[in-house]
Amino acid sequence: MIKDNFPFLRFPRELPRELNVPVRVLGYGEIHGAYTPEATSEQAARCIDCGNPYCSWGCPLHNHIPRWLELAREGRVEDAAALMHETNPLPEICGRICPQDRLCEQACTLETGFGAVTIGAIERTITDEAFKRGWRPKLDDVEPSGKRVAVVGAGPAGLAAADVLARSGIAVDVFDRYEEIGGLLTFGIPPFKLDKEIVRTRRGVLEGMGVKFHLNTEIGRDVDFATMVKGYDAVFIGTGAYRFVDGKLPGQDLPGVHAALPFLIANMRKLLGTATEADVLPDLLGKSVVVLGGGDTSMDCVRTSVRHDAESVSCVYRRDEENMPGSRREVKYSRDEGVEFIFQRQPLEILGSDKVTGVRVAETRLVDTGNGRPRAEVVPGTEQVLDADVVILAFGFTPEPPQWAIANDIEFENSGKIVLGGDGRLPLQTTNPKVFAGGDMWRGADLVVRAVLDGREAAKAIKQMFASAAVEAVA
Ligand code: FAD
Ligand code: SF4
Repeated sequence: MIKDNFPFLRFPRELPRELNVPVRVLGYGEIHGAYTPEATSEQAARCIDCGNPYCSWGCPLHNHIPRWLELAREGRVEDAAALMHETNPLPEICGRICPQDRLCEQACTLETGFGAVTIGAIERTITDEAFKRGWRPKLDDVEPSGKRVAVVGAGPAGLAAADVLARSGIAVDVFDRYEEIGGLLTFGIPPFKLDKEIVRTRRGVLEGMGVKFHLNTEIGRDVDFATMVKGYDAVFIGTGAYRFVDGKLPGQDLPGVHAALPFLIANMRKLLGTATEADVLPDLLGKSVVVLGGGDTSMDCVRTSVRHDAESVSCVYRRDEENMPGSRREVKYSRDEGVEFIFQRQPLEILGSDKVTGVRVAETRLVDTGNGRPRAEVVPGTEQVLDADVVILAFGFTPEPPQWAIANDIEFENSGKIVLGGDGRLPLQTTNPKVFAGGDMWRGADLVVRAVLDGREAAKAIKQMFASAAVEAVA
């Protein structure tokens, strides 16, 4: 038989079936279905195994992408899932919500001209299918190490650390103040991007590996951190970045102005059936909604507003589309769902007397700073008013140093980011040698895949610390 060296010519790049717009905006289901086994095999076969896997370099986790694409092509679902888990503790989640167009798929050799291999969609299809078939990470040969580690925060950083530690026979207790695991995976990112059943399945997988979750438990309130540090052999903290970036706009306290994350959390809790009186969800039916900001959070707010039957939804951002931090894919989905993007507008003031009626904005020009994104400068004399019944502020988040961490010799930068590594410390080790950290509390608001990377690498550093202590004890 002649080997087909160019399957990418026979099989064009194709994502799994996408729900059409009128149907998908009626609910919160994920908009893409799964590949059939044949489609998985065909799409995986598009990989040309180019020798220097740029895709792996484009992936922050350096996943063994061409190797698991080969297994996927052969239909070896469980083997592919096992290989994925060697580098990625949450492949089904990253496969759904990584901005692949800026990471692995952007780096794919086929991207220019033929369309990148659909790495993310294959990653999630394979993991979902492996779980459906009952595949679970294999821990039969793992001996208990006698060590215990506490993880504070059940977001992707904490979950990744728990996974790697549990695979090494380390007993892991994960604490979170919320009622469900996942951090922003559950309470920030809406279900049309990530179905919450996926996070629940992952919880079951981790529990099956021996990880114990202590939910509705806030460190610093319900559990004393100093006692925790004494009681465990090491601690990992991944408490995220939740300090709202304050645009200090005049009028931002008017009724009808809402902060993005409380809006998304209230919506999520309503869907989960766990909403409390504190979870206030504005009535958007027939309203004109303006979302200020251009990141992933604002994309999630505009698409959630569409699902609340707003009359019109617009996203206002001070730079242009090219320099927007939100994923290209999300901009497309938002446009498909009827969202209007208003670029190069700087919000100056929120207008209204007893409730919001509009936003005063001015046009901007972009000035090259020679250092990443251009600066947006207001063009004098270009002010205009955008009508609005509801304004959602989505300017981003920064980390806020917890007092209980500061009180236990853990240092933070003035920006609020935790100090890690350097000065002879292990990677991701804080200034308290028993404590490691990572994710958004170190990087600032970032990506799930990089929080996973930190959790994985911190767990490796904790294992290294245990190994060095064992060697010293013998010497
Ligand atoms: P988090 O996910 O924030 O988890 C921190 C956990 O710590 C939380 O569960 C919190 O309850 C817990 N915690 C905090 N303090 C305490 C305490 N004292 N005691 C106990 N528990 C505590 N990234 C992507 O890659 N793709 C996307 O599409 C995407 N969309 C996003 C949409 C929104 C709306 C937002 C806000 C972010 C989005 N991100 C996205 C970013 C991504 O969600 C974060 O980078 C990632 O979740 C950070 O992980 P983490 O584990 O560091 O923190
Ligand atoms: Fe791509 Fe994210 Fe998967 Fe890495 S983890 S291969 S960046 S989808």
